[in-house]
Amino acid sequence: MTITALMPVYPRCGVRPVRGEGVYLYGEDGQQFLDFASGIAVNALGHGHPKLVKAIADQAATLMHVSNLYGSPQGEHLAQRLVDATFADTVFFTNSGAEAVECAIKTARRYHYANGNPERHTLITFNNAFHGRTLGAISATNQAKMRDGFEPLLPGFAYAPFDDLDAALALIDDNTAGFLVEPIQGEGGLRPASPEFLRGLREACDKHGLLLVLDEVQCGYGRTGKFFAHELYGVTPDIMAVAKGIGGGFPLGACLATEEAAKGMVAGTHGSTYGGNPLAMAAGEAVLDVLQEPGFLEQVEAMGQRLRATLEQMIPNHDHLFEEVRGHGLMLGLKMKSDSRRFVAHCRDEHNLLLVSAGENVVRILPPLVIDESHIAEFSTKLSDAARVYVPVADD
Ligand SMILES: *Cc1c(COP(=O)(O)O)cnc(C)c1O
Repeated sequence: MTITALMPVYPRCGVRPVRGEGVYLYGEDGQQFLDFASGIAVNALGHGHPKLVKAIADQAATLMHVSNLYGSPQGEHLAQRLVDATFADTVFFTNSGAEAVECAIKTARRYHYANGNPERHTLITFNNAFHGRTLGAISATNQAKMRDGFEPLLPGFAYAPFDDLDAALALIDDNTAGFLVEPIQGEGGLRPASPEFLRGLREACDKHGLLLVLDEVQCGYGRTGKFFAHELYGVTPDIMAVAKGIGGGFPLGACLATEEAAKGMVAGTHGSTYGGNPLAMAAGEAVLDVLQEPGFLEQVEAMGQRLRATLEQMIPNHDHLFEEVRGHGLMLGLKMKSDSRRFVAHCRDEHNLLLVSAGENVVRILPPLVIDESHIAEFSTKLSDAARVYVPVADD
């Protein structure tokens, strides 16, 4: 037997965290890491946040799970808070981002079905998109590394270059249901859409009766300094997938929609055994409590500006390595002139700094949203130490 007990689908690194505290992770041998990856934009409140820990512990002792066959005071309460804070009129809770995307796709198809247009089933999506790993979600991207060997995939998707409005509009036909897009591509290389692109998609939806479906699984929930990234653009979706930060580390996702867009999602059309159970709702309430504290998002914005300025100052000193800074708030990307995965490994193994690589040789910088100036200073020292001694490999 050579296969590992854990199915070997991840190339796991040597960091083996067993404990976390604030912005730090601790490995089996007690080594300390500065965590500017946050479980890929999940640990919005850092590790072991007392409010989140207490909410989960209290709820676990009170009521962990009941079926969605029963009334859900917990779900109603959190859904109402999300409705009050966003464009949405209704919320479906899931356990992951991919499931939130699945619900978004199903909601979009059911909308046109309910309108008597079942042929309008195709969502236009974008090159280098990442929407998760279910068969539906991998069908919604054209990235070969996620699709190869899993065919036949789901029909009903068309692919345009990201941020190319004319190409997206040219794909609209009688079968189009709408657009599915990340306002800021995460895995694909930390690429923000241009305002013209997102606004153009919204206008096309209004003109042709299509749905704008946003995937804010990574860029949403305070990450950019706004509650949701689309607020940066002044663009409102019809349907939106949310996850990652929403549970602060507890598996939770949500599909948000307007009343009109959700008109087809009647009793019996969708479901989830765990989705929105009391334990998940307690985690979601605690995260939202912190995000809605006065000044919290402003602080994310301020720390984002400081972190960006730090990175921009560093580029001229290491211009053989770094090209530009991308992103908003605490969702930043440092574009490299060589392999970003190798540099991320160097930062991790030699400087105890955790970052995440993304497409296009971008280093993703996704610290917990609760960082302060001292963490940025520590990050800056570690990153410049790492850059000073790093020797990139030619042609990689
Ligand atoms: C992470 C991610 C997903 C998938 O979320 P899972 O919880 O892994 O299923 C979907 N869309 C985007 C933009 C993501 O970043």
